[in-house]
Order: sequence, then structure tokens, then C-alpha cells
Amino acid sequence: MPSSKSNFQARPPPYSSPPSYTSQPRGVAQERTPLLDPNQALPSHQYQTHSHSPYTQRPPISPFTRPPNPQPYIHHPSSLPRADPQPGSELQAQEYFQYPRWIYRRILRRDTSRTRGHKTCRHILLALLFLTIVAILFRNYVLFLDFNPPGLVLPPEKEEPVRIAVIGAGPAGVSAALRLGELFPTDEDVRVKGGKGKVKGRKVEVVVFEKSVSVGGRMNLDFELGIGEKEGWARKKFSIEDVASSSLFSHTSSLIRRRAETVLGLEFDADTKTNDMEVKGGKQQDVGFYDGNGITTRMTRPYDKMPWLQWGKLVLKFGTSFLAAHSLPANDVRKFSDMVKLVDTETFEGVEDWIKKAGLKESVEKGAREKLKDGGVGDGYRDKVIEAQVRRQLGQGTEEISALALSLALSREELGASRPMNSIKMQDVLEQLLVKSGAEVRLGMTLETMESERVPDRKNKAWNLSFNGGRVSQVFDKVILTSPFRPLEKAYYRHVWQTFILSSTSLNAGYFNISKSDTLPSQILLTPNSNLPVGMEVVNEISYVKDIFGPDIDTSSDFNAESVFKLSRILSEKPISEYTVRELWGGMKMVVTRKIEGAYPLLFPRSEGRGKFKVEGSEGLWTTAVMEEVIAGVDASWAAGENVANLMKQDM
Ligand SMILES: Cc1cc2nc3c(=O)[nH]c(=O)nc-3n(C[C@H](O)[C@H](O)[C@H](O)COP(=O)(O)OP(=O)(O)OC[C@H]3O[C@@H](n4cnc5c(N)ncnc54)[C@H](O)[C@@H]3O)c2cc1C
Repeated sequence: MPSSKSNFQARPPPYSSPPSYTSQPRGVAQERTPLLDPNQALPSHQYQTHSHSPYTQRPPISPFTRPPNPQPYIHHPSSLPRADPQPGSELQAQEYFQYPRWIYRRILRRDTSRTRGHKTCRHILLALLFLTIVAILFRNYVLFLDFNPPGLVLPPEKEEPVRIAVIGAGPAGVSAALRLGELFPTDEDVRVKGGKGKVKGRKVEVVVFEKSVSVGGRMNLDFELGIGEKEGWARKKFSIEDVASSSLFSHTSSLIRRRAETVLGLEFDADTKTNDMEVKGGKQQDVGFYDGNGITTRMTRPYDKMPWLQWGKLVLKFGTSFLAAHSLPANDVRKFSDMVKLVDTETFEGVEDWIKKAGLKESVEKGAREKLKDGGVGDGYRDKVIEAQVRRQLGQGTEEISALALSLALSREELGASRPMNSIKMQDVLEQLLVKSGAEVRLGMTLETMESERVPDRKNKAWNLSFNGGRVSQVFDKVILTSPFRPLEKAYYRHVWQTFILSSTSLNAGYFNISKSDTLPSQILLTPNSNLPVGMEVVNEISYVKDIFGPDIDTSSDFNAESVFKLSRILSEKPISEYTVRELWGGMKMVVTRKIEGAYPLLFPRSEGRGKFKVEGSEGLWTTAVMEEVIAGVDASWAAGENVANLMKQDM
């Protein structure tokens, strides 16, 4: 039996003269090798000619190589005249395995070659097509049938959650995370990945990044005093209350206090106690104003606890200015308190519409000095008392700030450094609220760069955040900045230095020209632009913070216990020299000092340019810091955080 090769060789050479093939005019049927019998011509309508065929460019065909097939189409065998197949020939094989007609029409007919390699390719392609169809059928009709016994069913994979990064774990960051936790509960219907079903889950994934090693924000001091370690004392960590406690939990409108009550079930005492009361006895907090010559004025905080005699003295000294200044903030403070509560029911695009709605537009646009003048507060009282109070609260003077900022600063000064009776700590509250939010918290992570870029598998542009010198980078769909980030710094900030002094003696009363018979105020505010000694002109406040007792002493039962150390604090615009500290305390044990960058936003009066919470011109980026263009404080930041979370929900 002749082999297929010999059969092929038996055929006459297909092109006796290839050049004449190419020289045929276009459209004229050419002489060619029929598919079946070389001697049998096909009907002319079955010929297709391509004068521009790539074969025309080929070199003359060697007799030892298989010539290319000039026939551009492969015909289905049944459409061709039948011929007796040569035994063992390719045709015979085709007789036994014929592709369905549609495969010929759609796939094989398009092919221009019949080499063995191409055929193999075609077979592989068809096999792949077949396998794909089988796989699709299997997935759609077999996998979704519940063959598994109960308990062994694999949960369907849910759709990728939207990843949200919250930068900063101060009041605004904690409130944003908590609100996101409420808006996106863990038992929502979430679409199954790539399918039609739904499963229970959370639509977002929230990660809070904080550069410091603890939560609390600007007021939090992540440093501790290693006192008494030899004697077995625990390290003493500063609490937020050691730095700032006025108005944190002390008034019922405080948003953070309300959250602590509703979310954590904490109970605050209606009243608060002052630092002095915590030590022993029952003194109120005494404030003295020092101008370089001596303590010129004394007040007691909170003002509603001020003795009548002291009221009388102040009225005699400053006339109606004192009374006018006392009633000045009330209106703005009430409106501000209502304003932050608006976040419960409304969502604001920007600070502009928020302050307008709260009726605070005029107070934001007006200067503090104008307000003082209109309110009947004389320049004497302003320079001797109010300047020092405002500088201590906001790190700037009355000539710089808005009327609203003045009102809030004065009302905080009135309240004094009060602490909740049951010693609930702000930092603990913030930590617990953060845990409740369900967010992942990553401490010690400083955001350094952020780029908006296209990322595979994400419809919209995503944010590539880089932390800690590029050692960590992560991609998020949305970002909430609660700290002012370089490109977004619309509100400008001033820093402050905090110095903590641990001493076995009280502040040197002689330094302030206080007679031995007189008591030393627990807080001394330094009057700016007065005759202050060198080194003291940069000081805003010197205050006693609290007594520190021995490790075995329970101050809640042992009221007469003697303290071992006194903790005091200096707030200043520049670092304080050790010489000055020694002058003030003498028997000092330890000093720790720290600069707080961006401590106080500049709150100058503004008539326009108040920012929007969603950063204009960038997708998926929000900031709470715009609130600080007009108001600074824990409640304002808390409200801004909740508002941004609401806006984000609307956007999704
Ligand atoms: C000394 C002092 C006393 C104060 N006393 C009071 C008071 O008695 N009552 C009151 O209402 N207000 C007070 N304030 C103001 C109050 O602290 C702020 O208004 C409030 O903390 C603002 O909260 P926030 O969340 O907006 O910002 P912040 O508290 O500043 O929180 C921002 C957080 O972001 C973190 N962060 C910053 N940059 C990055 C970064 N690149 N990567 C990661 N994390 C970053 C910071 O570490 C911080 O924890 C006081 C402020 C100071 C400085």
C-alpha cells in the first residue's frame, strides 16, 4: 500500500510555472490543484482567487518541500464532488471524521493553510473551546447545586469591600471611624463576588492610621515619667486631663460625652470637680494674672463658684467691663453647641453652609476686638485679663482672632480645668469608642505621601498611601484626613511647647511677689506686652496640675495623705531654660518638655474661602481640618468627623 507521502509525490507538481500564477490579472480564475483529484477540475463558481495572496511573494518552491496550498478556502467535503478516496490518503481519514458543517463554515473555511502544524493548532483550539464550554456549564449548573452535607458548604466569597483610610486618631478620626461603623453595619447584604447572590457582611473596611503610639490627638502626650520605678511605682503616663480638661466632659452638650453615654453606657456625674478639690480640702481653682511686677488680678473658676467678695472686688476694679465680658460669650456658645448637634440630623458640604445654618456667620466674620468693644468691654480689662486668657487657650491674641473664637476661648476659661467626679478618662473613652467602631487601628504609622492612581481591579482611581519613610504602602479607595496634610493646609497653625515639672516643692511664691501669708494661685497666666522678666515673655501659663502620691496610697479614702511630688506645667511659645525652671521650683526632680506642632489653628475673621469637607478636585478624599479654619475644639472636630462619614456614605 503506498504511503501518504508517496501518494503526495505521485501528484503532478502543482505549479509548473509559479510566476505565471502571479501574473494573472485579478479576478481571473487560475489553474490550480483541485482538492481531490488533480486531474478533475472543479466547477468555476467554487474557485476563489486572490491575486494579492501572500504566496505570490514566496520564493520558487523546492521540490523537496511541501508546496503551500494556493487555495484560500477549505471546502466542506460534502460540498465537493465525491471521489473514491485513495487508500491510506488524508482524504480517507477525513471520510471517517468529518467536522460538523458549521465548524467548516465558521472556522475552518477561514483558514488559508492546510499544513499539519496548523491542523494540530485547530484541534487544540477546538479542544480548548470544548473544555471552556464544559467548565462554564459545570460552574453554572453543577457547582451551585447543594451537594454538600450541612456544615461543609463553603461560604461564597463576598465582593471586595470599599477600603477607607482614616488618618489620625484624635477626636475627628475616632468620630469618623465610629460613624462609619454605624453607617456600614456588619450584617448588610453584600453581593457575592462575580455572582448574583448576596451574603451578610460589611461593605467597607476601615483602617485608622495614627502616627503617635496612642489615641487622643493633639491633647494627648505620648510620654511618661519614670518616677519611683525603684520603689515599685508604675510608670506615670500623662493623661489628656493633665493637659486639657476644660469643656471635655463637663457640659452636657459635649458630643463626645453623649457618645460615651449612649455607645459605651458610661455615666458621668452631673457635676465636675476642680484640680484643687481633687488634692484635698475644698478650694476652688484659683487663677492669677501676672504682669512682671506681681499678681494684678485673681479669679476663681468656674465663675459660678466664685465667692461674692471676689465678684465685688473685680467689679470695683474693672467696672462693668468684668460683667460685660462674663456675659459676652453666652450667645455664641449656645449657637455653637446647637451647631455641633446639627450633625445628628443633617450633613454639610462645607463649613460655610454649616455656620450659616447655625447663625454664626456674623461671629466668624467679625473680629474679636470689635466684639469686645460692641459688648462694652474696656481696653483695660482686655489687656490685663482677656489677652492672657485667649493666648493661653488659642496661642494667639485678640487682634488676630474672630469673635466666635473669642467667645469659645472665654467660655472654656470660665469652666476651668474640671475633671469628671468618677475619673473617667478622655483617652480611655476614645480608645473604647474606636474599638466599638470595628475599625482596624494601626498606631505608630506616619502618613508621608499619597498618590491618586489607577489600580487594577478597581473601577475608580485609588489612593496609594505611603507610611514611615515608604516602608509601608497601602491602597485605599477613600481617605479621610483628620490632621492637616501639607498640600491641604488651608488653615495655618501655631505650635506650643509643653514642659512638665515634677518637684518636691511648690512653686516659688517669692518669684511672683506674693507675700508668705497669701496663697499661691494654682494657675498663673502671664499678661502679654507687660513688664515680664527675661525668659518669661514667651510663657503663656504656669499651672499646678496635680499631686502625686506614693504607690500604696488610695486618695479616694485617704484624704489626708501627703503627696510625694507635685506635677506642674508650663505652656510657652519657646523652650524654657533649665535656669528659669530652677528659679521657679528649686527642688525640682524631673523636667520633660515637648513641642506640639500645629497646636493651635489661626482663627482670624474670614468673610470667604471657607473650605469644603470633600477636597475639591480630587476623587475620594475628605478632610475634617477645614473645620479648624473657623473653630477649634474637641466638639467641633468630633462633629466634623461624623459629618465627613455621612458625606462619604452619600457618595457611595
Ligand atoms: C494644649 C492644648 C489644650 C487644649 N485644650 C482643649 C480643651 O480643653 N478643650 C477643647 O475642646 N479643645 C482643646 N484643645 C484643642 C483640641 O486639642 C483640638 O481641637 C482637637 O484635638 C482637634 O482634634 P482633631 O481630631 O481634629 O485633630 P488632632 O487632635 O490634632 O488629631 C489628629 C491626629 O492625627 C495624627 N497625625 C497627624 N499627622 C499624621 C500623619 N502624617 N500620619 C498619621 N497620623 C497623623 C496626630 O498624631 C493626631 O493624633 C487643646 C489643644 C491643645 C494643644
